[in-house]
Amino acid sequence: MAIIESIADIPVQDPSGEDFCSADLTWTKFGTAEHQDDVALIPYERVDAFIIGECSNVECPTRFHIERGRKRSMGSLKEYKDDEYLEYRLYWCSFGPENYGEGGGILPSRRYRLNTRNRAARPQSMRGCTCHFVIKRLYARPSLALVIYNERRHVNKSGFVCHGPLDRDAIGPGAKKIPYICNEIQQQTMSMIYLGIPEENILEKHIEGIQRYCGSNAKVKSLASQYVHKLGMIIKRSTHELDLDDQASIRMWVERNKKSVFFYQDTSESDAFILGIQTEWQLQQMVRFGHRSLVAADSTFGIKRLKYPLFTLLVFDSREHALPVAWVITRSFAKLDVSKWMKALFDRARSVEPGWKVSGFLIDDAAAEIDLLRDIFGCPVLFSLWRVRRSWLRNIVKKCSNVEVQREIFKRLGTVMYSNWGGANTSVGLEQFVSDFVDQTAFMEYFRATWVPKIEMWLSTMRALPLASQEASGAIEAYHVKLKAKLFDDSHLGALQRVDWLVHKLTTELHSSYWLDRYADESDSFQNVKEEYIASTSWHRALLIPDSAVILDDKNHLFAKVQSQKDSSLTHLVWNPGSEFAFCDCSWSMQGNLCKHVIKVNMICENLQGYQPSMSFQSFKEVLMDLQSKPLDDSIALDLSMAWTQQILDQIQKLVELNNSSDIGTVVNTMPLKWVSKKRRTYVGKRSVSLALPPGNSNAKSVVVRKKSRKRKRVSRLR
Ligand SMILES: [Zn+2]
Ligand SMILES: [Zn+2]
Repeated sequence: MAIIESIADIPVQDPSGEDFCSADLTWTKFGTAEHQDDVALIPYERVDAFIIGECSNVECPTRFHIERGRKRSMGSLKEYKDDEYLEYRLYWCSFGPENYGEGGGILPSRRYRLNTRNRAARPQSMRGCTCHFVIKRLYARPSLALVIYNERRHVNKSGFVCHGPLDRDAIGPGAKKIPYICNEIQQQTMSMIYLGIPEENILEKHIEGIQRYCGSNAKVKSLASQYVHKLGMIIKRSTHELDLDDQASIRMWVERNKKSVFFYQDTSESDAFILGIQTEWQLQQMVRFGHRSLVAADSTFGIKRLKYPLFTLLVFDSREHALPVAWVITRSFAKLDVSKWMKALFDRARSVEPGWKVSGFLIDDAAAEIDLLRDIFGCPVLFSLWRVRRSWLRNIVKKCSNVEVQREIFKRLGTVMYSNWGGANTSVGLEQFVSDFVDQTAFMEYFRATWVPKIEMWLSTMRALPLASQEASGAIEAYHVKLKAKLFDDSHLGALQRVDWLVHKLTTELHSSYWLDRYADESDSFQNVKEEYIASTSWHRALLIPDSAVILDDKNHLFAKVQSQKDSSLTHLVWNPGSEFAFCDCSWSMQGNLCKHVIKVNMICENLQGYQPSMSFQSFKEVLMDLQSKPLDDSIALDLSMAWTQQILDQIQKLVELNNSSDIGTVVNTMPLKWVSKKRRTYVGKRSVSLALPPGNSNAKSVVVRKKSRKRKRVSRLR
């Protein structure tokens, strides 16, 4: 076959049909005499159709995942070859690239019968498949994609077919005919087993799942039932203890679960133990929900009870619930160590999504490395009050016996916190507080020992950083509470000192429960799981309380009453309404949690006169005022800030509109903005664009755009 040296000589192929695969394309040898690749040129918009086609290969049904990705922006290259990429993605068959058999030589399926111990964490999907291809969106012709097929066969390093019906090494009767079980179904089945759902229900869902890939017959059903039963047995017998020695056990776990480890540093004389866990699913969720959105931290969990404390990174999912997307187990909070794992995590997200960017990072610990966060994630840092609030409330309830005193103490602490913005001297307020409640010896002892030495640091952090809302705090707290319930259930108390046990708990039970929650919601299945998941934050529970159930004390704003929805004869008293430090007498609140009654009451107070605005709002106002008072000496910077502010205003306006509307359709219909912005991207710098913008904004925007393009012209002249 002739070798073609220029992309221009390769015909563009656009096979008919919804999907197509490599067999539908004519492949060209592209390159030089020394090195050529098998390539084909297809329209960029048909890349998905090609990938779907490749997945439904009859002999080796599979999925492909992005193993590596890179992106560059238009205009970033001065000179380039005709095969240079704008976007580069390496797709790998999901049965590879790793071979997770120990030692690398033996496939897990062969060892299957020999040792069923702890198979759970690695289902039979890793088989060292080498099938992979590259998709390059061409820099010179972005409407086209160059497909480079590096290995078209689904074989392992030794050249043997390693999965699918032709896999000769599959063991057991009928193994070759076993229907392909994709990751999603496998994960679903595993999750259900971990959550203790009865086997017959699991089987039913499992069969539903595989029938999407193959027909239904008695054989398929019986194989499926064997599979589910076997997986159940494996999981039941699996143990966190891979070795008696915890450290050795963890080392083995890391070796076997490389895909779920984004950073690992073993204990040594010079280094502290650090283990960063993130499954592929968590990575996807972090990329998906963290992009241009918030990431939050639940830090220093279990500092007293676990061998090493746990640090969790959370994103807010489509229901604004906190979803754990990475876990870091370490005792070291040294800047160097934190920067190591943080950078690794960030780079990991960037490797699958080159443009991945976080808009804000919520911290809950005033001692956090704020500069580091700003450097690595390149975004503002916000502070969430939930941890302080929770510790105070729990200790007040525990250490003071009289409910009236409890209310008053909590309220006073709130007043001190609020005065942080009023310009009042907080230390005077604190002194007064300590002397007023000096008879509450148990609480004061705790407060003096734990908080007095560092309260100034916490207050100044709160002053310096924007504050997160009570809803965000509630979401983080909901994760924290769930984690606690899973980890500290009594049967495992002896295991708290083992890291392998913690890892096992996180990656099996907790991971499964979040996976199933999301799956139930997105696929609208498992209705009870879905309902429970939706109601899992106080905020969502608060939304179910009608306004009419809340009665305010109009005169002195001292309290509010919330009528119980379940039992109308029951009311809860919320003391200090309209404050983050409102105190409710329901049992959920008495455990230190932010309860639905407080959230509901505060939601109502927010819109009423005579109540103070929430702390997060005060802090927001402070940020804006601060911005306004700064002299801006650089005119281009002023233009830019103007453009950004305008963008933010637009976004807020749209959000408010959406929020207030009962029918999204009417809002969407009046939204020509989408098209406007598309045009703007293509015709940057053209004056006609400003005509399409709503009146009022047009001037400011077009000035910025024009100025920018003028600058660009100047730069290009200089070259
Ligand atoms: Zn493969
Ligand atoms: Zn309550």
